[in-house]
Amino acid sequence: MKTTAANAMQRICGRKIRRPANVPYVRHGVPTAASRNDKANWRRSLSDLLNRPARTVIGPLKKDGILPEWSGETCPRCHVGTLGPLKKYLPKNGGWAHRRGHDACRRHVVPHAFHPIFAVGTGQSRVSSTGQAPILFVAVSGCSQNQARKLLKHNRKTTQRIYSSLRAARAKNVSIYEKKIKFGKPVNWADVEADEVDLAKTEPIQWDQWGGIAQRGAPKSLALFKLKPERAKRRAPGPGPIRKRDWAPLAEKWLKNRAVVLHADGAKSYRVKVDGAKHDWVVHMKKKIRLAGKWVWLKPAYVKTRYRNVPGEGDPKKTKKLWVRSGTQIIDGIWGRLRTFIGKQKQAGSRALTHEIRSFQWCQWHRGCRFKAERVPS
Ligand SMILES: [Zn+2]
Repeated sequence: MKTTAANAMQRICGRKIRRPANVPYVRHGVPTAASRNDKANWRRSLSDLLNRPARTVIGPLKKDGILPEWSGETCPRCHVGTLGPLKKYLPKNGGWAHRRGHDACRRHVVPHAFHPIFAVGTGQSRVSSTGQAPILFVAVSGCSQNQARKLLKHNRKTTQRIYSSLRAARAKNVSIYEKKIKFGKPVNWADVEADEVDLAKTEPIQWDQWGGIAQRGAPKSLALFKLKPERAKRRAPGPGPIRKRDWAPLAEKWLKNRAVVLHADGAKSYRVKVDGAKHDWVVHMKKKIRLAGKWVWLKPAYVKTRYRNVPGEGDPKKTKKLWVRSGTQIIDGIWGRLRTFIGKQKQAGSRALTHEIRSFQWCQWHRGCRFKAERVPS
């Protein structure tokens, strides 16, 4: 008989198990679909924001939720009374602002006051909110910082500030909403993938290693965490796989009693026992086994159909066979996109890199989402 991986495994297992013909890779939630980026259109374009009178730009920005509506709000300067409508108070600078009435504090509140991304500046570097909006627009569309600077002819500092504020704002949003991620339940025995990635290193060798957990069919479930790898040897290709002391608390926190099937690579750390979770792994390396007195190579398997014994629906003492596709295709794909997103020139352990990674996470959560300012033709 020819030795293939399949019949070698069969001989090791000793008996043939009938497997169902079609086990989908994504069993719950949204099946992975091809990106519809080529069809998506935005409601605004750059020409709506560029070289237009400020008033005609502020309106749409408010409508899209990029700028807040200040009129009628409590004055943020004196904390009493309400602000009036948008008026051209500063004719010299062409500045539009809100203000309380004549007898009150009369301080100006520009539309982008206290904004997480737009800066309120004075002096030479001052750029109005309507001047900053196009930079934000190209940043969100995915232009690099250098491209944005060249396209819009702003100085490096202004562009950099918008880009880093956008990253920081997304990172902050992620830090709030990541805590709310719940894997598994109410879905019973959902497939969850976990893996780690090495992103950057500095001399002397310190790696930036991150771990991630994602549930198949739930794009908003991506959780990322920074790991503390050991200092690697000088010429080592990486810091090595995730350590048990890193993984164990994470598994406890995210997966305990969530009724999930965890899919990971062959790293030993992932085999930590977690209550209420089943573990499954695939070895990506080709493997040598001894078969009938001969050494043979088994081909690496990236995806495999397997079953796990899970508690039955009615009687938890009885187990039933749950067929799953083991593999880490989804999280591997995420790592690929993350590498492209952050590019190459980043310092390990820097805040900029952390913000960039969190920013990517935010983009992943909202992949294919329709925002207020976005319109996808049906
Ligand atoms: Zn006031």
